Amino acid sequence: MLGQMMQKPLLISTLIDHADTYHGETAIISVNTAGGTEETSWGGVAANARRLGSALSRLGLDPQARCGTIAWNNRRHLEIYFGTSGAGFVCHTINPRLHPEQLAYIINHASDQVLFLEPTFLPIAAKLREHLPKLQHIVLMGPRDAAAAAQVEGLIFYDELLDTGDAGFEWPQFDENTASSLCYTSGTTGNPKGVLYSHRSTVLHAFASNTLDCVGYSARDVVLPVVPMFHVNAWGSPYGCAMSGARMVLPGPGLDGESLVNLIEKWGVTLAMGVPTIWLGLLGHAKKSGATLNSLTRTVIGGSACPPSMIDTFRDDYGVETIHAWGMTEMSPLGSTNMPLAKHAGLSDEDQRRLRENQGRPPFGVELKIVDDAGNDLPHDGTTQGDLMVRGHWVLDSYFLIEETALENGWFNTGDVATLDSDGYLTIRDRSKDIIKSGGEWISSVELENIAMGHPEIANAAAIGVTHPKWDERPVIVAVRAEGFEPDEDQVLGWFDGKIAKWQIPDKVIFVDALPLGATGKVLKRELKEQFDDVLTG
Ligand code: AMP
Repeated sequence: MLGQMMQKPLLISTLIDHADTYHGETAIISVNTAGGTEETSWGGVAANARRLGSALSRLGLDPQARCGTIAWNNRRHLEIYFGTSGAGFVCHTINPRLHPEQLAYIINHASDQVLFLEPTFLPIAAKLREHLPKLQHIVLMGPRDAAAAAQVEGLIFYDELLDTGDAGFEWPQFDENTASSLCYTSGTTGNPKGVLYSHRSTVLHAFASNTLDCVGYSARDVVLPVVPMFHVNAWGSPYGCAMSGARMVLPGPGLDGESLVNLIEKWGVTLAMGVPTIWLGLLGHAKKSGATLNSLTRTVIGGSACPPSMIDTFRDDYGVETIHAWGMTEMSPLGSTNMPLAKHAGLSDEDQRRLRENQGRPPFGVELKIVDDAGNDLPHDGTTQGDLMVRGHWVLDSYFLIEETALENGWFNTGDVATLDSDGYLTIRDRSKDIIKSGGEWISSVELENIAMGHPEIANAAAIGVTHPKWDERPVIVAVRAEGFEPDEDQVLGWFDGKIAKWQIPDKVIFVDALPLGATGKVLKRELKEQFDDVLTG
């Protein structure tokens, strides 16, 4: 016997319809690429998304045509998210910080038929154009601009394209398993691979993100996604915010500390989301300027390990709760968030603080386990570490245009090495390729970095394993000094005393002006390893 309830497909268009109907006047603030801020609303975004959906449908694209975007976080990008997917096309967000050859590879691999571009990136597109045989239309995200039109033949202007569309456009209805959006992994080895999300996985992910122990967007929040809309759909925040009717502040291209502090204070941001490197800049500027960040109640920090010292600074200096989150492109991305359980209420302050440092526990919809090299399950005892495996409603099954499954016995291997405790709390020890193996024993680079960054005179640090004649590999720290301080190597190494086992203490500290960052703001350890691999042997 089947249940007798309605069947409504889980489509992304239903999210924007909901935001339009019940939160139509709710503000969306958007920083323009050329500077200046504009204010629209969920109603305005919804109307433009429908215009865009209608205009694209009239262009005669293939069904489910991929529509690329090379764009910052702003309202046009938000409209494109809903307009493309809602009309049955695939929103393919592309990281503008990639090399031009990689951009061309991705655009061609995805067979993008349309490319939405910020004016900033027009010169790149003009150069790449001849290498993009399948691309039919380039749409500049702005009003008509004669100088731009002269650069690219047939250039379409977003604002004019909208004028050809119909704000009364009815979203098409289709199977909820239809592809909705596409995002390529950072491609640390070989070419980047595409992760093709579905309407169903996206809506389920939005539901989960809205549970209270996950991100829990509320209609009373002002949400600042600093995490780019080209990086795993800004962690799904556009969908989660549409579902709950949260206000959004879209920060545009300026992600420096000063710009972010100003946005938080001006618009009363309550919830901000981003990678740790972004918050280093923000905290640095807040300290210098004396900003109080009064409106901010919580930050979601993930993408790489959040140093405990950052959680402390947010809590102690600004009264802001940090939700440490873990996930990946292949998981849409949310895999776990750190929120306490009822039984933790009685713990001492210190124990509660320590508990909030790890990557947290999975929401309903994600399962986690750890396995050994042979694939055998390992105990969830908080100390045994193994390869982290996941499965769930918004976890990838296979990569775009790759036929074979990406799964091992039904689970996806994350490439992370982790421990899990009996409550499901996850501690990421390393990326399996970054882990430092000294004399056959594992040293967590994350742990070394957390300690180094807790040093008051260190601004940023990366731990890498470099070649050693006796131990194969030994850890060294590559550190950036905090402004106005000159700590020396002995001081930094002394800081590790008593915090970890003696044999885990790094052999050396190398000071640099800045760490190399990848396109998504993560430290490029591979580059550091290449540069410094011979510091103990050479
Ligand atoms: P990406 O697909 O580019 O988002 O990268 C996903 C990878 O980032 C994960 O597999 C982890 O190695 C790393 N990562 C994400 N969040 C965290 C976190 N909170 N702590 C440690 N590593 C993280």
